[in-house]
Amino acid sequence: MLLAQESGAAALYAGGTELLLAMKSGLLAYDALINVKSIAGLDAVAADDRGVVIGASATHSAVERDALARERLPLLAEVEHSVANARVRNVGTLAGNLCFAEPHSDPATLLLIYEAELDAQGPSASRRIPVGELQTNSYETSLAPDEMVTAVRVPPFPAGMSGAYSKFGRHHRPTLGVAAAVAVEDGRVADVRIAIGCVSPVARRLPRSEDVLRGERVDGLAADAPALREACRLAAEDADAVADLHGEADYKAHLARVFLERTLLRALGRNGSGGDA
Ligand SMILES: Cc1cc2nc3c(=O)[nH]c(=O)nc-3n(C[C@H](O)[C@H](O)[C@H](O)COP(=O)(O)OP(=O)(O)OC[C@H]3O[C@@H](n4cnc5c(N)ncnc54)[C@H](O)[C@@H]3O)c2cc1C
Repeated sequence: MLLAQESGAAALYAGGTELLLAMKSGLLAYDALINVKSIAGLDAVAADDRGVVIGASATHSAVERDALARERLPLLAEVEHSVANARVRNVGTLAGNLCFAEPHSDPATLLLIYEAELDAQGPSASRRIPVGELQTNSYETSLAPDEMVTAVRVPPFPAGMSGAYSKFGRHHRPTLGVAAAVAVEDGRVADVRIAIGCVSPVARRLPRSEDVLRGERVDGLAADAPALREACRLAAEDADAVADLHGEADYKAHLARVFLERTLLRALGRNGSGGDA
């Protein structure tokens, strides 16, 4: 593979919305760029037995508009529409967003509750990477230097699960992203998935908050209900918020508490509406 032959002197280039900015400002330098978008078929969005396979050169706009994605992953299509601006969405790719590992990413947070995976191809082998194992730190991933992501695999939520996503920020990129999905059975929370991102280097699931809510009666989960309050309190702790140009850690922990409650209530409100969003 070309990437392996160049041994560190080349970078993959998809939409270039991150890479070219970083190169122009002198943060990154490469002798060569390998254009992912010239690989035939990599822009496809297709079905497989688990869900939807989004090729590595599919742009945010393509995902947002794709009929299959809209039908099976309506929350992802909705969130893709909120990424950046039309110019960035029309050239920037979902895979490029994840591979750049910029901490203020919407899809990196949302795809955790979809339990998505990535296909990675190296010179001699391929592997599947759970989306939560791709990013290891700010701008760092578990990809080997000679590996490329070829697709993002997104299973729809299980039947009966509905989801919601909230973002907040005053800059180009979000200061906070919160994703939640809830399944209700016999009036109780049968399953729940929660993720938070942008407030720390790496987006994460919040298992302690999920545990508090599992089994709770749904009719008791109004704003400020004790279980909801506890789940949000734990989220503020477990988010491990750090200070950056978007704000202090305490401020972000507060945002996590407030936005998780709103997001959970929205996800619950969508339950029974027949889709994931
Ligand atoms: C003004 C602005 C606003 C933004 N706002 C938001 C926002 O609100 N929410 C949000 O989530 N994001 C936001 N972004 C980020 C945006 O989503 C990303 O810039 C875009 O998705 C990156 O995709 P790309 O195809 O342009 O990647 P590129 O710039 O081409 O590549 C990015 C990195 O990923 C690597 N790479 C690319 N493709 C692959 C691959 N297939 N396998 C392995 N490595 C690969 C490249 O080598 C490079 O290191 C914003 C960006 C800008 C410029």
